[in-house]
Amino acid sequence: MKISRRTAVISASTFAGAAILSACGSKDSEPANDASPSASSGASDSASGSASASASPQGPLVTWADNTMVSHLFFHSLVADPKRAFDGDDEAKGYLDYMVTIDEFKKIIQQVYDRNYILISPHQLYTTGPDGSIELKPLELPEGKKPLVISFDDLSYYEYMDGDGFPDRLIVKDGKIVNEYRDAAGKKQVGAYDHLPIMEEFLQDHPDFSHDGAKGVIAMTGYNGVLGYRTSDISYKDQNKNLDQDKKDAKKVADAIKNNGWEFASHSWGHINFTKSPVDHIRADNEKWQAEVAPIVGKTDLLIYPFGADIAGIGDYENEKFQYLKSQGFNAFFNVDASVPAWGQAGGKYLRQARINVDGISLKHAIEGTSQTLNEFFDPHTVLDPQRPKSISGTDE
Ligand SMILES: [Zn+2]
Repeated sequence: MKISRRTAVISASTFAGAAILSACGSKDSEPANDASPSASSGASDSASGSASASASPQGPLVTWADNTMVSHLFFHSLVADPKRAFDGDDEAKGYLDYMVTIDEFKKIIQQVYDRNYILISPHQLYTTGPDGSIELKPLELPEGKKPLVISFDDLSYYEYMDGDGFPDRLIVKDGKIVNEYRDAAGKKQVGAYDHLPIMEEFLQDHPDFSHDGAKGVIAMTGYNGVLGYRTSDISYKDQNKNLDQDKKDAKKVADAIKNNGWEFASHSWGHINFTKSPVDHIRADNEKWQAEVAPIVGKTDLLIYPFGADIAGIGDYENEKFQYLKSQGFNAFFNVDASVPAWGQAGGKYLRQARINVDGISLKHAIEGTSQTLNEFFDPHTVLDPQRPKSISGTDE
């Protein structure tokens, strides 16, 4: 089965060094032979559904035919300085595999927009009843638009990334969410050096890229703090003299992010593997997330699995892990499957959606023609950064 095969591959590298934000996504993104039954057609095919009678300033609205068939792309932090990231050191291969550069991201987003995708929130797909039941609700989009969820994983500026050409953190300056970034000369810069501020700028110029104010979902762990602030008591109690102030500062940034239309998801506290972890381990980890991360970014009903490692195969959720996570308020669950443009599942008590990794690995598959998935969203040949080496990714040279 696809999901177990994928996690088996991933688990080989699990926590091989602290650095492994990396394998948020699947390493194994070739098309699976045993593709999920509902995933045979691309998302664009399912738009032809029922036209509704309503209208908007942009013209007539059309109800999206199937809320379980919504595409979802995800990214890690962007490489701001390819020279320092792709410098051949221990981490360089991981950056090549799991990240794209600022240059690549800007081209990708432009093309996704040009192909008539529109950003939606998972919360525009369902409502939750008082008994925990999930009901899909009509998604009405301007005619010709295709819904897209976008998510950013591990927006933590992890310790291991220090000095490798990534920003230090997010801050709010003059009412705008921007990065603090030290350039190669060590000079502090303030500006759009990662996806979130870049998206903010893009949406200023292209407000119709957002459906009813939806932007994206940010998947947050806790062990290195959040948003570049070392806010974890468990990890930094004796090390970070500014712990309390950092928590306050991080909360201000998180509030500004949410006020601008972004949403947060749990990505577990310790970037754990939900497939392999027994339910007791999942519980202990979630308690840390609720204690250290939720007070800063807020409660959430969205769970984005690290490594894409789901709690079950493609059959309906019903196991003990699901019962626990549901009891903790999680309603929507996100694994990884880059073999099809969209995959989803609506159970009576949850919505599940597959995400597509956009990174060096998937770009390499797209360029070499071993996967067509990214071609649905952009032309992989035209987005590639000339500073990326010929190998494109770091693993399959
Ligand atoms: Zn991750």
